[in-house]
Amino acid sequence: MTPEEFRQAGYAVVDWIADYWATLPQRPVTSQDPPGTLAAGLPAGPPERGESVEAVLADLDKLIAPGLTHWQHPGFFGYFPANTSGPSVLGDLVSAGLGVQGMLWATGPACTELETVLLDWLAQALDLPEKFRSAGPGGGVIQDSASSATLVATLVALHRAAGGRWREVGVEGRYRVYASTEAHSSIEKAARIAGLGRDGVRLIEVDPQSRAMSVPALRAAIEADRAAGVVPALVVATVGTTSTTAIDPLPQIGPVCAEYGVFLHVDAAYAGAAAICPELRFGHAGLEYADSYCFDPHKWLLTGFDCDAFWVADAGELVEALTVLPEYLRNAATESGAVIDYRDWQVPLGRRFRALKLWFVLRWYGVEGLREHIRRGVTLAARFADRVRADDRFELVAPHPYGLVCFRLRGPDEANEQLLAAVSGTRRVLLTHTRVTGRHTLRLAVGAPQSTEVHVDEAWDIISGAAAGLVPPG
Ligand SMILES: *Cc1c(COP(=O)(O)O)cnc(C)c1O
Repeated sequence: MTPEEFRQAGYAVVDWIADYWATLPQRPVTSQDPPGTLAAGLPAGPPERGESVEAVLADLDKLIAPGLTHWQHPGFFGYFPANTSGPSVLGDLVSAGLGVQGMLWATGPACTELETVLLDWLAQALDLPEKFRSAGPGGGVIQDSASSATLVATLVALHRAAGGRWREVGVEGRYRVYASTEAHSSIEKAARIAGLGRDGVRLIEVDPQSRAMSVPALRAAIEADRAAGVVPALVVATVGTTSTTAIDPLPQIGPVCAEYGVFLHVDAAYAGAAAICPELRFGHAGLEYADSYCFDPHKWLLTGFDCDAFWVADAGELVEALTVLPEYLRNAATESGAVIDYRDWQVPLGRRFRALKLWFVLRWYGVEGLREHIRRGVTLAARFADRVRADDRFELVAPHPYGLVCFRLRGPDEANEQLLAAVSGTRRVLLTHTRVTGRHTLRLAVGAPQSTEVHVDEAWDIISGAAAGLVPPG
């Protein structure tokens, strides 16, 4: 493809994306194709001769789009949002066009330096503790996902718990990771990958109301483990749990970690973005105790997947835990000690220029524009929660400090399962579910860029109408 051919095909692709976004509201939010539909529509093998981009675009319309769940759809209220935006896509396009591999500072100096500066900008925008800024021993890096950030935090915590010997001897002895019963599954996965085995993670009970980690239970678990010869290595506290956006109490967890010398990682994958608004920073109280922190701009900050922002207070310890320097990567810049080689801050060696999409997003919206986006989500969620609260057939199951509302029909789980099925069947809106204190609970998470009052009200009308078909009146 010559640059001139690329130009023409590129315009057509950008037009296709713009048309896709413009027509989202008219599309069903989910696909109803049975499994195997796409494979049945595709040829049995690759084309022998090249085809035009127009032919591919036609098949995007015919075969791919109908088989998707449309995450940017205004009726998408499932899971957590995975926002994208025009500037994010354009930044990603530039990254793809440059094709820079930023494993070392020397393999693309501006790629590394833009990332360092942007993570400092983000830290400033979220008002994160000074220790995470690159001016001191700390700093930030972009990981692909919060799961990877947690894995890296786990490895550094093990390195520390092993007295700096983990990288030589591996997991020798018994170490333990602590997180609440509401914490994300990626914590258990990270512990498993790190070789901690089945008993590597101890799940700490939560307060039945707030769903936040019980600090007395955390302390008791750490003390019992120490008495049994197990080394407490890491506490992962969650700000905004996946199930209900519960907030673990960092101001009390932090001192316990400090007392026992346990590494504290804070997972704010979804809710961290809210801290761009000063009035939504409550979840970060006590963050100064954390050794590392992450959140996903790819969830709620208009930056397309994948983009997790991860900060550590001590970058030296991180690099010490992860670095391996083969001869073929040796270079003068690395040896000077004056540069950051982000390959040492992550699991893979290679990395693409993800900072570009963040840069495009921050420059297009400005911090104020991003605040508006977050506030709109919080306001719409509150609007929906008001509808739920005003209808005695329903109950709110948890507080809704951010953009997620957890609610259920008063009554048996089966009625709630039927309600979710009926709502999903309309294909106008997508909600997902969870279990809260054992009870089937519906989740409505606002955050798709195109969602407005109209769509939240429509969601309520659909839910309320479907409930009328299930619950005897009165
Ligand atoms: C979504 C989520 C994760 C996982 O995020 P990825 O970036 O997809 O790995 C981890 N923790 C919490 C609390 C989450 O909500």
